Amino acid sequence: MFEAMHWTSTEDGRVRCELCPHHCVLSDGQTGICMGRVNSKGKLYSKNFGHLVSAALDPIEKKPLYHFHPGSLILSVGPNGCNFRCPFCQNWEISQQEVRTSFVPPEELVESAGRDGSIGISYTYTEPLVWYEYVFECSRLAKERGLVNVLVTNGFVEEKPLKELLQYVDALNIDLKSIRESFYQKLCKASLAPVLRTCKIAKKHCHVEITNLMIPGENTDRKEVEELVHWVASNLGQETPLHFSRYFPHYKMAAKPTPESTLLTAYEIGKKELFYCYLGNILTRTGSNTCCPVCDNVLVERQGYSVSLTGVKKGKCSSCGRTADLVLR
Ligand code: SF4
Ligand code: SF4
Repeated sequence: MFEAMHWTSTEDGRVRCELCPHHCVLSDGQTGICMGRVNSKGKLYSKNFGHLVSAALDPIEKKPLYHFHPGSLILSVGPNGCNFRCPFCQNWEISQQEVRTSFVPPEELVESAGRDGSIGISYTYTEPLVWYEYVFECSRLAKERGLVNVLVTNGFVEEKPLKELLQYVDALNIDLKSIRESFYQKLCKASLAPVLRTCKIAKKHCHVEITNLMIPGENTDRKEVEELVHWVASNLGQETPLHFSRYFPHYKMAAKPTPESTLLTAYEIGKKELFYCYLGNILTRTGSNTCCPVCDNVLVERQGYSVSLTGVKKGKCSSCGRTADLVLR
């Protein structure tokens, strides 16, 4: 086990984890909500340091990141555990229960991330911020070797650890599951405000894209979608890509899949305020390409994970010359 960062001792001899807003107070031997941190004899340790539950070389579009090195591959890894309790979790087998893991030291992971055409490391699949010490160390090493670091996260983290980690992070996809506090309390057993704070802080440091999983009857109300879009446009900027993703029944949630019409309506709402809106987990051409917000020229064409930068010349729109909002090599 690896001694954790961001914790304090309480007066009665327990430890308080200060990594995420749950602030778990743990007695000797007790593990936090995320399953990743444990009090051992009055010190907090990261139980999951170096333990991978999944690893694959993924297209960066799968994160999803559409404006960050489009068409690239990235080594993607994740820990066992999460600090949320989403009943719709698509990865619940590895986020909500303890499973077998493989140990990979940071140097070895970073070494692998520089091979096979990968541009770096994506910390993803479950909740990478509860893997904090490992992500911190791998990101630091990866940065030294000119590789990129990407976080795919629920954004539920304290401000101090977030800012310390962001010095090594190049891009984030943050799940903004709803713009309603009640959604976060009822379904995730968490809260909204820290997630909004993470979005704003991250946007000041590096590239950010937002994903909203649309679940029928929970967050698909037109007014709620309008509010979410407006929050993204006015707090993160019109150029921030927003991905609406289609829900399918998983884990404890049995509601039917999101109707395609709901996604298409969200897309129309999004495009009223944002330059770039995308649809995920849906078989439609709408919401897959990146188009210039000025002249509508197709900048990046996507068919599944096949990507081509058809309308980009030296980082600009090949038709009107507007600078494309893309992070390119
Ligand atoms: S990171 Fe884990 S242990 Fe720490 S406060 Fe959050 S849930 Fe609790
Ligand atoms: S935050 Fe993501 S990984 Fe965690 S329970 Fe929710 S959907 Fe699953």
